[in-house]
Amino acid sequence: MPTLFQERLRALGFSSYSAYLQSPQWHAATAAYRAHPRLPQYCLGCQSGSFELHHRSYTRIGHEAVGDLIPLCRICHERVHRYLTEHHKPINATHVALRKLTGQSKGAMKHQFRPFSRKRPKKRQTLAYNREPLREEG
Ligand SMILES: [Zn+2]
Ligand SMILES: [Zn+2]
Repeated sequence: MPTLFQERLRALGFSSYSAYLQSPQWHAATAAYRAHPRLPQYCLGCQSGSFELHHRSYTRIGHEAVGDLIPLCRICHERVHRYLTEHHKPINATHVALRKLTGQSKGAMKHQFRPFSRKRPKKRQTLAYNREPLREEG
């Protein structure tokens, strides 16, 4: 049975999350992030300069805001996903996973996430697919 997230992807015309990662929409979203002058261009887990982009929200999948993405190196990215999967946490709990993995205080995390907070939509997020436990998507 497809997850709500998979159904959302299908509604956008993608057969899978990996198909989405090949799309012009995803390439545009990551390029916009990497070109952004004020967003961190290093892994938030370990400060490595080599990073890929992780969704902290799927709310705007297909037309992400740069604030929906956070930079993580491959290793930290895998760790975050493993944590979320093992603890049956949704993607919205990314900050919790990152805090556990880095041992950072809540305050330090808040500071790191602050550049993104302005990008949050005004309405409370109620989309169910943001809140379901992760399987393999990322
Ligand atoms: Zn890292
Ligand atoms: Zn991810």
